[in-house]
Amino acid sequence: MNYHIMTLFPEMIEQSMSTSIMGKAIEKNIISVEAVNIRDYTLDKHKKVDDYTYGGGAGMLMAAQPVYDCHRAVSKSILGEDSKRKVRTIYVTPQGQVFDQAMAQELSAEEDIIFLCGHYEGIDERVLEEVVTDYVSIGDYVLTGGELPALVMMDCISRLVPGVLNNEESAQTESFDDGLLEYPQYTRPEVWMDKKVPDVLMSGHHANIEKWRHEQSLIRTKERRPDMYNEYIKQNK
Ligand code: SAM
Repeated sequence: MNYHIMTLFPEMIEQSMSTSIMGKAIEKNIISVEAVNIRDYTLDKHKKVDDYTYGGGAGMLMAAQPVYDCHRAVSKSILGEDSKRKVRTIYVTPQGQVFDQAMAQELSAEEDIIFLCGHYEGIDERVLEEVVTDYVSIGDYVLTGGELPALVMMDCISRLVPGVLNNEESAQTESFDDGLLEYPQYTRPEVWMDKKVPDVLMSGHHANIEKWRHEQSLIRTKERRPDMYNEYIKQNK
């Protein structure tokens, strides 16, 4: 999995992706991260990348030219000189489809993904029409820039790339995998602040443990995410 992030703040991406599990995955060459500074592609002599919006209104907009030239350069580095194929290019935007585990699963099969991070009021619509294949939001709220959304998505997608997680960090059973939230979990000591680990987990009876975990998942999902619970019940009637 090769990520290419078009951004005005490459250091934000580089710093975050160089630590912990992502850092190790990069070291092991399972994923690669290339943060490309859109500003390097502006033809403006003052290195400006933004301008006023037509029609008035507060705020600046990222201009089409630097974004387009940056995207061409990144695409060319992936595909070579004369390929007509389009690399999956995700514009992270509050106006996109909301990111979820199913989308992460689908994206984890890609070899290359380009993330386009906006700033200010966003990006000139004309260049978005030219380069973007997917519009993706990380939730119904507005952030100052696209770097955090791109990092959130890369973290989530990478966990699903074979070899990124080891056994202890395994992504086998997690919330959302089967349409439910995960059951409660406990580690040592057996008693902490007078709270005892449920007996069934100490019993060694595998079938009973599985049954208990499934029941707990149902209870938790019903309490915390009734929308998910109702969908699960509908699907599993
Ligand atoms: N004017 C835009 C609008 O109303 O839709 C919001 C622009 S926002 C201040 C600046 C940039 O942050 C966007 O171009 C986008 O890349 C990123 N961004 C902000 N919120 C986001 C979200 N919820 N999901 C994904 N990207 C987001």
